[in-house]
Amino acid sequence: MASTRPSPPAAAAPPSAFEYAPAPESRAVVDLRPSYGLFVNGEFVDGHGKGFKTISPATEEVLAEIAEADEADVDTAVRAARRAHTRVWSRMPGRERAKYLYRIARIIQERSRELAVLESLDNGKPIKESRDVDIPTVAAHFFYYAGWADKLEHSGYGTESVGVAGQVIPWNFPMLMLAWKIAPALACGNTVVLKPAETTPLTALLFAEICQQADLPPGVVNIVTGAGATGRALVTHPDVDKVAFTGSTAVGREIARSVAGSDKRVTLELGGKAANVVFDDAPVDQAVEGIVNGIFFNQGHVCCAGSRLLVQESVYDDLLERLKRRMSTLRVGDPLDKNTDVGAINSGEQLTRIRELSEVGDAEGAERWEIACDLPTKGFWFPPTIFTGVSQAHRIAREEIFGPVLSVLTFRTPAEAVEKANNTPYGLSAGVWTDKGSRILWMADRLRAGVVWANTFNKFDPTSPFGGYKESGYGREGGRHGLEGYLR
Ligand code: NDP
Repeated sequence: MASTRPSPPAAAAPPSAFEYAPAPESRAVVDLRPSYGLFVNGEFVDGHGKGFKTISPATEEVLAEIAEADEADVDTAVRAARRAHTRVWSRMPGRERAKYLYRIARIIQERSRELAVLESLDNGKPIKESRDVDIPTVAAHFFYYAGWADKLEHSGYGTESVGVAGQVIPWNFPMLMLAWKIAPALACGNTVVLKPAETTPLTALLFAEICQQADLPPGVVNIVTGAGATGRALVTHPDVDKVAFTGSTAVGREIARSVAGSDKRVTLELGGKAANVVFDDAPVDQAVEGIVNGIFFNQGHVCCAGSRLLVQESVYDDLLERLKRRMSTLRVGDPLDKNTDVGAINSGEQLTRIRELSEVGDAEGAERWEIACDLPTKGFWFPPTIFTGVSQAHRIAREEIFGPVLSVLTFRTPAEAVEKANNTPYGLSAGVWTDKGSRILWMADRLRAGVVWANTFNKFDPTSPFGGYKESGYGREGGRHGLEGYLR
């Protein structure tokens, strides 16, 4: 039974915060099976690979055995998707496809607690985020694209589906990335084969059960679990018409190379090193909240995280003092505790990467400050950290750390802020904090970023397109623009 499993200590109370009693969300809502197969042609089947275990990053407890798809399994899944596309899904009127998407959205709402608990267990993110942000936004995506399914002639991108989509997603927002990929693809009449990340397969497999519950025709959605090799077999499969990938820039590049010369369509949503720019006329306390949300939301495992803070020199001391005070109230600990603000790092591998890059920051002469908190002894943990005295040449100012680590730089003039903000190979997002609307527009015109948030950060909405410039990838997901990759 769930209650006999080990759980990490409750969120460690920071020194300056109120003591809260532990408020753990019940694990009993999740009916974890000991093992999971691949979801192919509407059924769970065995994989031919040797399989792997998925663990809770907060406790290192094994959650389940997961099947691993080899090339033959991927081929079977792609064939199932092709059959379903040709015989059923692409022929179905949009208004009928919409009903399935709508039904899936409603089931996601009904099973939202189960999905949120499973997401926090497998990923390590705080339950208050999976419950209040991830899963509601997932349902919103399915509702939104259900609305498009019978209105494609108004999309401006045509009405004919592309075919079979091969979709590969990362571990930072497992269900949300699934929704970003699957909802528009299905709305446009495509069928999909999706590979979730190796460390976070469980909610995708629960989604497979939801597809069964919704009576989705077999083969319309197929889920193949596995590691990088499974992803590679999927994106290079000759019968995949469209590749959609979210993940690291290195793998994105490899995918772009591997499909070059074929007639596959590709959208890539890759890394970021977003500047969060605070001017001296900004509402300071709101800006502090936005900085905290920008980098410590989801342990900083966010491609559009505000990982470079640019502060106007005249307010630097005041802002840093307030930021440190606010950070000291963050609770780090058990992802299933409703009081937790910062959960576990998703994997030992990612923790090593965060530690290594932070040590590079020390070695390059930046000054490290982290919050005082007791970290659990088991699992993967890193305290919310800021580096000051960072220059643009430092690796921690240039590379994606993908963890709860903020690099702080300063500027004097708006022009210098723009120059520094744009001085990155990435271009996914940016934030601007100022009292002046004209300055927001002036900055937004000049920042080379797919999304510019003004006096807020990390706001997501299914109606709004999202995507990058430069090494952050190409193509847009979300909104009307998100239909383009899935229509001829
Ligand atoms: P990857 O890019 O390796 O993983 C993303 C997805 O691609 C996973 O499902 C992965 O499988 C799969 N994959 C890996 N190799 C291939 C391949 N050759 N062909 C097709 N699919 C492949 O990211 P990592 O998880 O390794 O993270 C490394 C770094 O990438 C992080 O430290 C972070 O900086 C960045 N990152 C950025 C993300 C973003 O949203 N911008 C998201 C995730 C990571 P598997 O899970 O088995 O590796």
